[in-house]
Amino acid sequence: MSNSTRRRTEQQTTMQEYTYICPECTQEISVNDEMRNAILMNGCPVCAATVTRTDFK
Ligand SMILES: [Zn+2]
Repeated sequence: MSNSTRRRTEQQTTMQEYTYICPECTQEISVNDEMRNAILMNGCPVCAATVTRTDFK
């Protein structure tokens, strides 16, 4: 069984922007989708607080 998954999704036309507002240190940062995911996984880049999706606007 050969399963070649060569999918290239380089669609930079729709780069979603969010505004992240930290619930702890109230830092406001403009982020894109990639950064948003990173912050959701790693926490606030400023104070390392736990971040949820509701902290993005
Ligand atoms: Zn913070």
